[in-house]
Amino acid sequence: MDGFVSMSAGGEKIPVKILRDTAASQSFILEGLLPLNSGTAVGSDVPVRGFDMQDIGVPLHRIVVQSDLWSGDAVVGVRPGFPITGVSMIMGNDLAGGRVLVTPEVTPVPVACDRPDELALQYPNVFTSCAVTRAAANCERIQTEDDIDLSDSFMCVLDADSSNAPSLNRKNREKSGLHVPDVGSLSLSRQQLVADQQTDGSLARLFETAVTDEVCESMSSGYFVKEGLLLRKWTPLNISPTEDWSVVMQIVIPVPYRAEILKLAHDVPLAGHLGIRKTYDRILRHFLWPGLKGDVIHFCRSCHWCQIAGKPNQAIPPAPLYPIPAVGEPFEHVLVDCVGPLPRTKSGNKFLLTVMCAATRFPEVFPVRKITTPVVVQALTKFFSLFGLPRVLQTDQGSNFMSKVFAQVLKQLNIRHCHSSAYHPESQGALERFHQTLKTMLRKYCLEFEKDWDEGIYLQMFAIREVVQESLGFCPSELVFAHTVRGPLKLLKDKWLCGDTDQNLLDYVSRFRFRLRHACEIARDNLVVAQARMKSWFDKTAKVREFKPGEKVLVLLPIPGSS
Ligand SMILES: [Zn+2]
Repeated sequence: MDGFVSMSAGGEKIPVKILRDTAASQSFILEGLLPLNSGTAVGSDVPVRGFDMQDIGVPLHRIVVQSDLWSGDAVVGVRPGFPITGVSMIMGNDLAGGRVLVTPEVTPVPVACDRPDELALQYPNVFTSCAVTRAAANCERIQTEDDIDLSDSFMCVLDADSSNAPSLNRKNREKSGLHVPDVGSLSLSRQQLVADQQTDGSLARLFETAVTDEVCESMSSGYFVKEGLLLRKWTPLNISPTEDWSVVMQIVIPVPYRAEILKLAHDVPLAGHLGIRKTYDRILRHFLWPGLKGDVIHFCRSCHWCQIAGKPNQAIPPAPLYPIPAVGEPFEHVLVDCVGPLPRTKSGNKFLLTVMCAATRFPEVFPVRKITTPVVVQALTKFFSLFGLPRVLQTDQGSNFMSKVFAQVLKQLNIRHCHSSAYHPESQGALERFHQTLKTMLRKYCLEFEKDWDEGIYLQMFAIREVVQESLGFCPSELVFAHTVRGPLKLLKDKWLCGDTDQNLLDYVSRFRFRLRHACEIARDNLVVAQARMKSWFDKTAKVREFKPGEKVLVLLPIPGSS
């Protein structure tokens, strides 16, 4: 802080650099700054414990101080030097009292601000064009109380409805220690939804084109009304409309519910803050509204945690892609790798052992303390006990996978060990992308909840398995379990559709086998197409480099343990 000192009220002002020290009870100035004399001397000393912890007497003088924080006649101690260079006055609490100059504090954990930004109020045009995060939007809302956007206060309606108040805000979640959203409290009655659909202006045009559910039976897609509820029948991807098992029924969502559905699809730990496309796909499986895509884009771009954590650092592989072959049977060919070292957690975990099925892209992870052969074997045993023994196990040439013990275990289990060349990490492309996604998700989780990464890992895994893999056209859990796993969005949809299914177990089992076989076939076709597309796109930009014997080359060796 800049200020002035002088001998008297009308005297010459000497500029000073002032340090406001809230821990000091006495103010000081540097000796020699003013021509202090016996006239300014108070005649007494103040005992001070010096910076070197020795008690000394400091002579007091009367001067005049002028600064933003405090101005007036002051009695200050005079010292020959300060421990901080560039400072010629220390302003203690004797002058400034409780007053401090606020300096901006930079923190990775933002604090919710309940006051509108004064600068933004003063210069509204300067602040309008940038992406407004939801936290900022909430601030703005408070300032313009008379036109509150009700879409975000949808929880208030629920509040009146249900006895246990919804607790989606962070504090409550932390208190309960429960990081799973209370989706039960999100439900509104079907009756209410029907009423809201009908009064929603943005859906009026859709109601006009809607047919009855009987008429819709014969259509591949279109809007229809079933028992008062507006739905859309939709066949995703390039699946022929005769494949009725793949048809999705979407509930058309009126305005007041949309914000909450976006939150469920992106914000909650089970959703894992995935990108725009995955969030969009995830909503489309259950819900739809006009302008959904734009809303998803806006929602994801203005997500605080996504902005803080940033995007995965995508490294471009240095040579043409060698896609992993589109393999048939689920869990016949698995890829194993490790991620780490990661920040050590309270449980002592530092690494993640990752396993992925090459056919379904179904991923599994094991947080472990160290990556040694016994630990790897133990984790893999867990995996095999769930999904059966693979025929081929693919790893890199990490020392933990190349040990004699590991080779012996695999030999006993009759598993072929394929170690993709460490110099061509592209062959593990799918697994690498999974690692990138997972690391970004974990970073967001840790930032948002201030918890260890291994506490949230299983929620993140749910999110990854639940979203559609672009190259497959299906989500991994669908390919493995042959039904849509019940995530927050499905739960909500079930409630609105009154969940009960008229299907019996026998129906389910026969349908299950049929669905699974078809889904796997289609996924395989999609994978072949996607890989060809990816390779041709990639090869356009990649260069094959050839070297002659005797040429000097710089060899980049993989670092063990790096992912
Ligand atoms: Zn996000």
